[in-house]
Amino acid sequence: MPLLLGCVADDFTGATDLASMLVKNGMSCVQVIGVPEGDLPEADAVVVALKSRTAPVTQAVAESVAAADALLAAGARQLFFKYCSTFDSTDQGNIGPVADALLKRLSAGFAIACPAFPANGRSIYQGHLFVGQRLLNESGMENHPLTPMRDPDLVRVLSRQTDGAVGLVSFPVVEQGAGAIRQALTRLAESGRRYAIVDAVTDAHLHAIGEAVAAHALVTGGSGVAMGLPENFRRAGLLPVRSDAAALPQAEGLCAVVAGSCSRATLGQIGFARDQVPVLELNALATPDASALARQALEWVEGRLDAARPVVIAASAPPEKVAALQQKLGREAAGALVEQALAEVAEGLVARGVRRLVVAGGETSGAVVTRLGVTSLRIGAEIDPGVPWTFAPLPRASGVTPAGIHLALKSGNFGARDFFLKAFDHV
Ligand code: ADP
Repeated sequence: MPLLLGCVADDFTGATDLASMLVKNGMSCVQVIGVPEGDLPEADAVVVALKSRTAPVTQAVAESVAAADALLAAGARQLFFKYCSTFDSTDQGNIGPVADALLKRLSAGFAIACPAFPANGRSIYQGHLFVGQRLLNESGMENHPLTPMRDPDLVRVLSRQTDGAVGLVSFPVVEQGAGAIRQALTRLAESGRRYAIVDAVTDAHLHAIGEAVAAHALVTGGSGVAMGLPENFRRAGLLPVRSDAAALPQAEGLCAVVAGSCSRATLGQIGFARDQVPVLELNALATPDASALARQALEWVEGRLDAARPVVIAASAPPEKVAALQQKLGREAAGALVEQALAEVAEGLVARGVRRLVVAGGETSGAVVTRLGVTSLRIGAEIDPGVPWTFAPLPRASGVTPAGIHLALKSGNFGARDFFLKAFDHV
């Protein structure tokens, strides 16, 4: 299976979001964690997940180019640079500098920039990004601690991050479809623009934009605009119609949920699960010791693990309890303690035969994946929007047979109330 689309994503959950979009549109896809070393896994699309959104510019550029090198060496025919649908960045970067460096690496002179994702309320009109009914700079994103977005005009925002000129393909053109968009892009490129912000307010627009950029070496945007790309490869006869794009190895073995997110959705999911399956709530305030917490959890699971329904181990707590632990240990140390405890729990669960594991929380997922030595995730079907089951090969030394586990890594606020139960009906 030759690699068709090579993707560089500027954060972990954004990478999964993109990978899931590609799978839904008929490409098999593997998410690789960090700049890949050695051979890439077989798939129609590979998404390299970096943590470059708020990294220093030079580091973000170097890692993105290294990822691009690996993808191109594996034969990728087109590169996709994925960033957030709210265009999270500052005047220093990292969207402009990374896109500039990728264009240079490809010896290309032009790319679109389209973070629109109408299904999630992100639309672009006359170059202005809306979140729901509000302009970006009135959406709450103006207060983001790391990337405050105070200007909704993406032409201006991107212009401040690059020495290239930025143009706009606006709504009336996009409405006319792929041919008109392609012509407008050609005109902008010929007139010396390096980027074009492209308006989009519906999925039909995103499909048309996708078709219009079939011949581009680099496409940049949110996961929305990627929905139109698989069809280009099918049209060119490079991608078969796949009914099995989301296929994963057969899932067997014991089930568990590990939760470190304190987001409202996760607290609701734990509450829902409490009436139906065994739930252990760890008390980090009473036992502020990661290994001791992990031991408590692993003693508790004895005799409770099951192949049909999960056990739930949660450190998650309501705001006042989180604040109490943070006051005692400091914010960073409190987070690190809980992450380490849950990573040890996850490792212990796998050692006890758990092969289907849901992890709730972005940072928590990062800690678990690192602890298990996971370097790639094959993307399967979605459980709820944005959260697919994945299959993660484990390092040979882990002694797990078969040589991997099914993982669902849930960003804290994602998923319906019954997520922890529903997930195990899906796999
Ligand atoms: P989300 O995706 O909801 O943001 P994360 O896992 O990214 O979830 O972040 C949650 C953070 O809160 C983690 O660093 C986790 O270790 C920490 N945490 C979890 N439970 C507690 C707790 N009881 N007290 C303090 N911090 C906690």
